[in-house]
Amino acid sequence: MALSAESTLSHLECGWCQAHYEPDQLWNLCPQCQRPLLARYDLEEARRHVSPQLLAARPPGLWRYAELLPVRDPAHRLTLGEGGTPLLLLPRLGERLGLRHLYAKDESFNPTASFKARGLCLAVSRAVELGAQALAVPSAGNAGSALAAYASRAGVPAHIVLPQDAPAPFRAEMEALGARVTLVEGVITDCARIVEAGAAEGRWFDVSTLKEPYRLEGKKTMGYELAEQFGWHLPDVIVYPTGGGTGLVGLWKAFEELERLGWVEGPRPRLVAVQSSGCAPIVRAFLEGAEVAEPWPNPSTVAAGLRVPSAVGDFLMLRALRESGGTAVAVPDAEILAAMRELGATEGLFVAPEAAATVAALRRLVANGFVAPDDHVVLLLTGSGLKYTHLLASSGEP
Ligand SMILES: *Cc1c(COP(=O)(O)O)cnc(C)c1O
Ligand SMILES: [Zn+2]
Repeated sequence: MALSAESTLSHLECGWCQAHYEPDQLWNLCPQCQRPLLARYDLEEARRHVSPQLLAARPPGLWRYAELLPVRDPAHRLTLGEGGTPLLLLPRLGERLGLRHLYAKDESFNPTASFKARGLCLAVSRAVELGAQALAVPSAGNAGSALAAYASRAGVPAHIVLPQDAPAPFRAEMEALGARVTLVEGVITDCARIVEAGAAEGRWFDVSTLKEPYRLEGKKTMGYELAEQFGWHLPDVIVYPTGGGTGLVGLWKAFEELERLGWVEGPRPRLVAVQSSGCAPIVRAFLEGAEVAEPWPNPSTVAAGLRVPSAVGDFLMLRALRESGGTAVAVPDAEILAAMRELGATEGLFVAPEAAATVAALRRLVANGFVAPDDHVVLLLTGSGLKYTHLLASSGEP
């Protein structure tokens, strides 16, 4: 039964130096090399307790994968209805692009209207289970909103450090959700320094992207859901808007676990990282064949969630892209804004600029032959456009 599902979390493993750590205490980065820790499970044990057939009978939402998630005590599994988002066929846009099997995973259905809810749902649940009494993140908008929601749900204070130019609706939302918001002149990496300093003083636990192991576990559930929604097959290509990279790395981790569980077989999807030409450190590093990415100077893009000039998980993203046979694409902001309107007008989806960037990238990938007309392609539409209406000047009708 779903209610008695037990986590099979066995240890944490550093993604860089492979050191192992005891999982039932709070950790941020690997103490030895300051790189991300990854949650590892006893997958043999998991196989004995859960199967695709059993999953099919469970309620929708990401906690259906509880054996493959880190939270031990069901009482600590916070929920606001996250996960279980629709997989939609996009026939009109597909026809425009010359693709017969174009899909979107619409993450705007999540609490606070973006896929950040998946990661923060897990990170907050697990941090509170392990004794954290206050939580903080640097954010471009959506991560802060999601933290605010789940921290409120858990009854612990949330501190969010936001660039001053973050869209106004985010700040209003975070404050309404009970969070403390600090505005900073600068970009997300400047905000991150403030969160780090407060964590070092013991004021809060830092739940920044990939600086604790469990946001990744929430994001990986997108990979589990895709497998389930495609009938335990995987699509050929997944196009993902890349900032800090938890989604990309999480998808790859999901596919690896699904293979080891014996629930899927065959080639894994080719992963495509999309960034804005105004901030494309991962694209540049991928094209140069580098193992890590150099920081991007003066990052600038309307897609706030993609304005991440350097990421602690850079090497994990680059590895996933290469192992998958994928690629990385930068698109200009003008194409991102045009794609927001195109997705809206052709398919009824009003998405965030980060999500729209996938359409602009896909057009290029079809043109250069990376994507073939018969490929099954999934656009990861990571969030709603409702908090970004300032980007769309009205057509001016009175
Ligand atoms: C944060 C964000 C992204 C980037 O996600 P990462 O996991 O940081 O790569 C993409 N789209 C939206 C809407 C976001 O909020
Ligand atoms: Zn390490």
